Amino acid sequence: MKALRQIGARGGVAGKRLKEPKLFVLAAQIFHLLLELSHASVLLRKGLRLLLQLAYCQAVLCDQVVYLRLNNANAVCGISHAPKVGVWHGNFYLGAMPRLSFWMLALLPLTARSQIAVMPLDEPLAVSGELAELRNHHFHSGIDLRTGGVTGKNVYAVADGWVRRIVVRPDGYGWALYLDHPTGFTTVYAHLESFQGEIGAYVRREAERLDRYRLDLYPPRESLRVAAGQVIGASGNSGASGGPHLHFELRDQATEAILDPVAYGLRIPDAPNPPALWARQSGRWRRAGDSLAVDSWNDLAITYPEQGFYAAVDDSTRSAWSLKRWTFDVQRGADGGMALDLHRQQGVRGFLLHPTPTQPAPGWLVNEAWPERPGRYALSVTSGDRSVWRGAVRVANPQKQREQPAATWSDGPWSLQVPARAFSAEQHLQLRSNGRSLDVQPDVAAIKPVHYYWTPDELPDSLRTRTYLAVRDGRGSAKIPGVPTRDGRLHYASKTCGPAQVRLDVEGPQCRLVRRDPDGGVWIRVTDELDPEILSARINGQWTWAYLDLKAELVRVDAAGATGELVLVVGDEVGNRTTFIHTL
Ligand SMILES: [Zn+2]
Repeated sequence: MKALRQIGARGGVAGKRLKEPKLFVLAAQIFHLLLELSHASVLLRKGLRLLLQLAYCQAVLCDQVVYLRLNNANAVCGISHAPKVGVWHGNFYLGAMPRLSFWMLALLPLTARSQIAVMPLDEPLAVSGELAELRNHHFHSGIDLRTGGVTGKNVYAVADGWVRRIVVRPDGYGWALYLDHPTGFTTVYAHLESFQGEIGAYVRREAERLDRYRLDLYPPRESLRVAAGQVIGASGNSGASGGPHLHFELRDQATEAILDPVAYGLRIPDAPNPPALWARQSGRWRRAGDSLAVDSWNDLAITYPEQGFYAAVDDSTRSAWSLKRWTFDVQRGADGGMALDLHRQQGVRGFLLHPTPTQPAPGWLVNEAWPERPGRYALSVTSGDRSVWRGAVRVANPQKQREQPAATWSDGPWSLQVPARAFSAEQHLQLRSNGRSLDVQPDVAAIKPVHYYWTPDELPDSLRTRTYLAVRDGRGSAKIPGVPTRDGRLHYASKTCGPAQVRLDVEGPQCRLVRRDPDGGVWIRVTDELDPEILSARINGQWTWAYLDLKAELVRVDAAGATGELVLVVGDEVGNRTTFIHTL
């Protein structure tokens, strides 16, 4: 702990608080100005800037600094809300720091709490999904706000700004609005049901002009202005939403890094779910009891630690994790930090206390070596100011797990290519092929896509583009359309590694009229083995708006007051089409 200085913050880690930071800030700013004016060599400038950053971090963010550590080899500082500064697995990264952003950064702590001037929904807000919650293949990048189980609630712009981006898609965020604010932030409002009048009219116009039903629009800058508190749309359940709610997100405009909205003024109640420690004993994950005996350090996991966590062995901090800011390029690290079996066995997502050797998830503030000898150790796990678990743990075999090297397995017409580090630990897979089916044991969730190749024996050329792979593992199942390769095989890439079967889809989606709403909406059920997509919707030959809700398998065609012939064309992922005609 000597080289370690932990500074008490919201994280509640024992340590000293820093004194008044203002002088440091002023000194740092003057220093920075001199640096910018000087014509020092690049290396010198980099060095000075690093020093400056450290001084700055220490000074300005005393309320938000989580961890600061200096040693002769490297300098690491982890800060919860400071753009451009962070930790990546022990390597200090700053990136190129533009001049202006430094000044913005310096002002940030002063303005941070007023970024969100108006709440995105009527208060009081209630939370159904937390920031950085573990999901499959990603960290939850926003906060899910409850809408009382219904859609149609007013959604407000949290600050003055303009519409940066509008997305309409059948999956993912569904109907989503991205607002830019002059303060350098972006806010995102997802799974909406509708957009406010002017924004809605723009979307319709563009959809017709482009003749598209899946949209990703960037209106001219500042053409669609919004004021703080203005209604920008209605909450909904569109896209991959599991029920009516508003997904709200705050990002840094320049880098699109995810930020913690609570640190910038979102008023939500305290997280109701305290984290818990889980342990894997004889292959089964259980809530940790008073004393523990596990095989290795990788058999310990903590369920969602909103405030991050610190794990200490024999009173020395070995790992600390907190995620309050991250970029999309590190999202897949979520799988590397997740206890995959725990989710499979108990349905809860937990974070490994000891980072896996494979794919370090972002957010590790401390990642010290854990003891490698078998023995009994004192373990304490803390989250926020709460002790999660404290006691003795006996570890039988704590040596580091070996990571998976790249490997190829083959059997009959099948081969499975696994890139290096595709699994969090080394796997010895057994393959047994049976024509179009392939049995893979054990089935294990992969962190990176694995590649299935199948050599068809008698498959007409016309069907080569109509295949998909149905594959399942402990996390779920997937259907992957096949891509013919030049050497006559079919290729399927998937993060699902387990028993697989090639199937053919030669028919277009099935369509069936469900009902017509009084407001003119026509609802059509559209089902397919694969994901359907709207290709065209026309009434009497005139373009009309339609939206596909993938999870409900419903298309809503906008047919207000129209009579005549509705022609809807839908397709699937392997190119089959269906034309549905209905007389209104
Ligand atoms: Zn969400």
